[in-house]
Amino acid sequence: MESQARVVIIGGGVVGCSILFHLAKLGWQDCVLLERNELTSGSSWHAAGQIHTISSDPNISRLQGYTINLYKELEELSGQSVGLHNTGGFYAASNKDWYDYLKRERSKARYMGLDQEFISLKELSERHPLIDTSRYIAALWDPLDGDIDPSGVTYAYAKAAKKLGASYHTHAAVIETNQRADGSWDVVTKDGSIHAEHIVNAGGLWAREVGRLSGLNLPVQPMEHHYLITETIPEIAAREERLPAGIDYEGNIYFRQEGQGMLLGTYEPKATPWMVGGTPQNFGHELLEPQLEHIAERLELGFERIPALKEAGIKDMINGPFTFGPDGNPMIGPVPGMRNYWAAVGVMAGFCQAGGVGKCLAEWMIDGEPEIDVWAMDIARFGDYASPDYGTVKASENYERRFLLTFPNETLPKGRRMRTTALYDRLTAKGAVWGNGFGLEAVLWYADGPDDAHEEPTFRRSRAHDYVAREVRAVREAVGLTEIANFAKHSFRGPDARKFLDRVMAGRLPKPGRIALSPMLTPKGKLYGDLTVACFDDNDFMIFGSGAAQEMHRRWFESNLDGYDLQYANESRRYHGIGLSGPNARELLARITRDDVSNEGLKFRDIRRTFVGMVPAILARLSFSGELGYEIYVEPEYQLKLYESILEAGEGLGLTHYGLRALMSLRLEKNWGAWTLDFRPDYTAAQSGLDAFIDWDKDFIGKQAALDEREAGPAMKLATMTIDTDDIDVSNDEAILKDGECVGYVTSGGYAHHVQKSMALGYVPTALATDGTALEVEINGEMYPAKIVGAPLYDPTGEKMRA
Ligand SMILES: Cc1cc2nc3c(=O)[nH]c(=O)nc-3n(C[C@H](O)[C@H](O)[C@H](O)COP(=O)(O)OP(=O)(O)OC[C@H]3O[C@@H](n4cnc5c(N)ncnc54)[C@H](O)[C@@H]3O)c2cc1C
Repeated sequence: MESQARVVIIGGGVVGCSILFHLAKLGWQDCVLLERNELTSGSSWHAAGQIHTISSDPNISRLQGYTINLYKELEELSGQSVGLHNTGGFYAASNKDWYDYLKRERSKARYMGLDQEFISLKELSERHPLIDTSRYIAALWDPLDGDIDPSGVTYAYAKAAKKLGASYHTHAAVIETNQRADGSWDVVTKDGSIHAEHIVNAGGLWAREVGRLSGLNLPVQPMEHHYLITETIPEIAAREERLPAGIDYEGNIYFRQEGQGMLLGTYEPKATPWMVGGTPQNFGHELLEPQLEHIAERLELGFERIPALKEAGIKDMINGPFTFGPDGNPMIGPVPGMRNYWAAVGVMAGFCQAGGVGKCLAEWMIDGEPEIDVWAMDIARFGDYASPDYGTVKASENYERRFLLTFPNETLPKGRRMRTTALYDRLTAKGAVWGNGFGLEAVLWYADGPDDAHEEPTFRRSRAHDYVAREVRAVREAVGLTEIANFAKHSFRGPDARKFLDRVMAGRLPKPGRIALSPMLTPKGKLYGDLTVACFDDNDFMIFGSGAAQEMHRRWFESNLDGYDLQYANESRRYHGIGLSGPNARELLARITRDDVSNEGLKFRDIRRTFVGMVPAILARLSFSGELGYEIYVEPEYQLKLYESILEAGEGLGLTHYGLRALMSLRLEKNWGAWTLDFRPDYTAAQSGLDAFIDWDKDFIGKQAALDEREAGPAMKLATMTIDTDDIDVSNDEAILKDGECVGYVTSGGYAHHVQKSMALGYVPTALATDGTALEVEINGEMYPAKIVGAPLYDPTGEKMRA
């Protein structure tokens, strides 16, 4: 065994082997994979081997497409058969909601370049004569779907990696991972150790145990999962062509041909987490005892929909465990707070996803960033609230919902109230309908008291519509109060604070007492943040940003700190707060602070430490609503006092509570984008329009790429549009069309209540991103006329927020 390697990957399942292959393919051959037993000794060997492209996140779908398209090349490179059957596959809808869902998937596929098409039920029965099509109303066809041989795929990755110069060792269990002072690792096995620059946890079923070797607690959980294989079915034996693969959403079942019979798997309504306390080290090529009673109801449904299954004998019933993360998506990337430690865990559909995971991780290690935005898989989307127990609860929820419909306005019930603020009970009593981000409860909108506080999951406008309209009206006409605990706050203190931020942020830094907006770019010029930078003095800065992205940003700041004399801290939980917005906001504020808050005393984009509502506070004059607005941040124990002071002072001023839905509506009519939606690492500063904030006279990370793009001009641009609809708005990912051709896609949108228009933001070719361009947006399969609006529909000159 080598004594030195650039990367050691722990785990020889499909994920670890794919990472080894991609590292070698992209030029890092001095990488070693260590496997406890034989390759495929975890969940990989007993997978059902079905492959498909659909996923809730478009970039994950893209990577699933990449994975499937890679199989032929992999087979040629390795000389190992992967048993690929590209039979094509269908997704069947048995009710209108599922049909709507499929129409939305079809719309996404248009711009992802995936070739999905609806087929008639007649065509469905021709392609799969065993299906009782009377159970369905629609079917979406994807030619990429099919099945593979799980062991073949895993060995093919490993063999191809070896041919490219990487190596792997079996029967080499890692028993310790010890970090040296320089950040490198000693990876210890009973037969010796390897000194490595980086390590990758690809431990699959043992990801938790491998994590704990380095003090890392991962919120992943193996779940029991069943599928059955039938004896030969005469109709199949009589066919020449292989049957296509299929997924029946309502039944939560998937199926495909296996030999001359069929394979049918199901995600049962009551999940069974496996080995909650930890996966035994001696578990290997065993299977679990089938629990027929858990899946009987689902099988019944499967038999109804594929009647031939009723007659066929069951040859095999498999119950095997595989690992889920809290939201069902993989958790990959550099672990925030650790050096040179990479995760590739919680990959629950390894044969659809491992190619993409390997590609992204290898690019991230070698180039410093993946080619596309991997936010939906980034381990940094979770924080320390994601405890092992949280992982078990959420993984179970996700397992049970694997093929169940989640509406765009639906929030999932499990693992809630992990993080709350001092106002939680007060706001609940007012009728708060809660959402949840980064474990923290945040108000979406306010109903008329707690008994009325419920949402109606739908693709169309929900019952929240009129309540949100009421909140928007209050902000535009009087004053609104919103909790802002969920924004991230990052502090930078020390002699090099300004120097550091000048390099990391692309925008012009503010002077003491002032605030500035700034994009943050990667070396390749991709957006890595759209942040609000506040300067208290030259040694003391605070950055406000996306709460969801706080660990991602922390990881970025920490990875760039070397050589600077400053202290950085993620202080998001140290400051909670309340925002005030609306024409009466100043009068209210003046009643609870001794500061001069006139337009001269506290200018737009001023910030200071002072006292508000009797308590020490950071007071900033900012606005994401487009109105005169203030943000007041206080330490959590002061938040209730601040809230009570505001309520008292708001008497007679029309003070109304508002939530995130209203805020997202208000910003639409200002043409403002939002992080994780319109602003993400898929786009550049010039594409998003955030280049307007760049300080071209200084040096900053990503400058060369941004300059190159400025020279060439961006190929696409973020544009705001109105859409002619009656009772439906975009959620996101809808296709944008021009003359029947897909030219772009929606990144966010909804109803702009004040201007009373359905609106969307989306990326379109630069030539089309001009005021008045007529387009179409596809929502639930219908084409709606849309028009680009160059200037904001509300207060285009920004007078209101500067008043
Ligand atoms: C019944 C069933 C059906 C499935 N069907 C499908 C399907 O149809 N399509 C699909 O895409 N996916 C399917 N899956 C899921 C798929 O199997 C997993 O997503 C995939 O196997 C995950 O691979 P992995 O490499 O992350 O983990 P694993 O396969 O668990 O690999 C982890 C490896 O790490 C090794 N290891 C652990 N600890 C150490 C250590 N300390 N030192 C060295 N090595 C170590 C283990 O021995 C193991 O080989 C199914 C799973 C099951 C159980």
